[in-house]
Amino acid sequence: MKLGVTASIDLSALNHNISFVRKRAGEHREIMAMIKSNAYGHGLVAIAQEMTSVDRLGVATIDEAFSLRQAGISKPIVVMIGFIFMEELKLLFHLQVETVIHSIEQIKLLERFDREKVSTPLKVWLKVDTGMHRLGFSLKDFPQAYRRLSQISIIQQPISLATHLADADNPDLLFTQTQIKLFDRLTHSLPGKKSICNSAAVLAYPQAFYHTVRPGIMLYGISPFPGKVGSALGLKPVMQFSAPIIAINRLRPGDKVGYGGTWQCQRQIRAGVVGVGYGDGYPRHIKPETSVWCKGRLCSILGRVSMNMIVIDLSDQDNVQIGDSVILWGDQLPVEKIACSAGTISYELLTQLTDRVKFNYLKNDE
Ligand SMILES: *Cc1c(COP(=O)(O)O)cnc(C)c1O
Repeated sequence: MKLGVTASIDLSALNHNISFVRKRAGEHREIMAMIKSNAYGHGLVAIAQEMTSVDRLGVATIDEAFSLRQAGISKPIVVMIGFIFMEELKLLFHLQVETVIHSIEQIKLLERFDREKVSTPLKVWLKVDTGMHRLGFSLKDFPQAYRRLSQISIIQQPISLATHLADADNPDLLFTQTQIKLFDRLTHSLPGKKSICNSAAVLAYPQAFYHTVRPGIMLYGISPFPGKVGSALGLKPVMQFSAPIIAINRLRPGDKVGYGGTWQCQRQIRAGVVGVGYGDGYPRHIKPETSVWCKGRLCSILGRVSMNMIVIDLSDQDNVQIGDSVILWGDQLPVEKIACSAGTISYELLTQLTDRVKFNYLKNDE
């Protein structure tokens, strides 16, 4: 029995997905597991604690790195956004957390701090912009950035190098191949570790594995490709999102359901009220006929999603009772499908669960 709105996190599935990446990338390569945004909504610390077999953890912000260190995680951590203030740079040294360097302002702060004595030099990842146009040095500015960083004594040499792919989930390979070519041309003669691949590239661009791969979404068992589900790629979904049936009603022809009365009964039906809504992180803007999974069957959602409730059609489900669990997404109902129905991507749904949701960590013996 599960009480309330629950995210069950299957740690065996997580380990399956890590092994999948390990096999795909090869034993000699490093895995930087991306756990930004609360480990894609799965719980930052709990997921980090389980990830003993990866080489590095990738987060977005220093705050996230701080939480991990506070929880006693000693594994190498890389902050993707890095620092903008001197205080943050000092904190990175203090926490011994690696950082991405993507701007000249960051290099200037490092040069200023270079006069200080530090016990351990900092590992940094110099980011080049090969087409994403978000973070990173342009191809033109990269050589100068590299040269300046090479002269900073509080940085561990050689510097690691990275770029980020903008379009690796596109079946049209051209843009990504160009990004890979530019990165290669710029860095092939440099000695540091190199990294390009997100999940889509781990699956689609083995020529770009380099030294370190940076999978995110696939570790949680989810497909990075639109229109595909993780299980079809050999991955196992880690999260199951569920909520209980809290009421069951008989509705008659003509009865309207929910706010705005957007759905109207054509015949007599048995309607179940499920205790989950957009206030829990279930998307409000789903297409009509979006389903949930209940006792081995798909059931349609009727009318609008409320803050903490939805109504589902249980007409063909005489055996369902109050208290029974309804699965919003998970093994039987991929989150990719719900995301598609909501006009978004699974990344967004996973990171949008609110703190009303109880997290339950499970480990099945495989
Ligand atoms: C989030 C992120 C990744 C992982 O992306 P996925 O699509 O989730 O695999 C890799 N690299 C960087 C820099 C990222 O920010």
